[in-house]
Amino acid sequence: MIEATTRWSITRRKIFSNCARRYAIKYIDNNYSNLKQNKTTYHSAWNLMIKTSRCVFFQLLADLHRGVNWSEKLIQSRIRFELTSQLTSFGLTSKIISNQKKNNLISSAFIRIKKILKHSIITRIIDGTIKEWSFHERINPVTFGHINVYCSPDIVYRTKSKWHLVRLTFQSERIQPYVELELCSMLLWSKYNQYLPNIQEKFALHGLFYNDGKWRNFSIMPSQRMLQESKQLLEKDVHNMNLLQIEFMKNLNPNKLPLANSNSYCIRCPYKLSCPKFSFSDKK
Ligand code: SF4
Repeated sequence: MIEATTRWSITRRKIFSNCARRYAIKYIDNNYSNLKQNKTTYHSAWNLMIKTSRCVFFQLLADLHRGVNWSEKLIQSRIRFELTSQLTSFGLTSKIISNQKKNNLISSAFIRIKKILKHSIITRIIDGTIKEWSFHERINPVTFGHINVYCSPDIVYRTKSKWHLVRLTFQSERIQPYVELELCSMLLWSKYNQYLPNIQEKFALHGLFYNDGKWRNFSIMPSQRMLQESKQLLEKDVHNMNLLQIEFMKNLNPNKLPLANSNSYCIRCPYKLSCPKFSFSDKK
């Protein structure tokens, strides 16, 4: 028997809303050989580059917090080291990834970091205009009712009496219909939000999204209504994820679940090799 889902995160939400099969293979916890077979197939070098960009940027933030600035050379060498480790650990050795491809990936990660360092929020942190700030990894959940929500902001800073919660997305979708409500989920991380009638005076929410070679900034002043709607969105998501689990339990075959509408979503899917959408797949 599979236990009901009680976890919510932006990544889960994005995968769930794009492809039920991918969600089931990645998140439905089980011991069924059918899924295990689907799980270990393919890792995209591009996704490892995104992971590397985020990881190296957080290393940079950790040093910045200690007052240590990085040179461009150091950023590049950390990217090279981290990406090489990532690629090797997923079997993508120099026999599979050419030097040129690897250098292109390093350059893509470097551009992402270089460009975000020019964003006004980060420049104000670097030049000391923003004095009070911290950074957070989304490792620990907060509890909302029966749901564990992975929603911590990546960066938090304060200007006067206002707290700014910032989420960074190193590769974002072009169209994000629920971006406001998704950003509002960061408020659940702040234990103070429940008690604030003046939530819009206390908080500002910022999403920095990288897409098409640019970092785009989406900032909002949250309201109680938006926070409420964000909580409803979360509950609805988890409810729908559980309905999908029930559907999956009927035959324990992820290949019978709905697939992504758009082929572009499949390009870097780790479960592509076994997917019935493609000719090389196992069409069980
Ligand atoms: S390849 Fe596409 S359709 Fe198949 S599981 Fe991945 S995202 Fe879904």
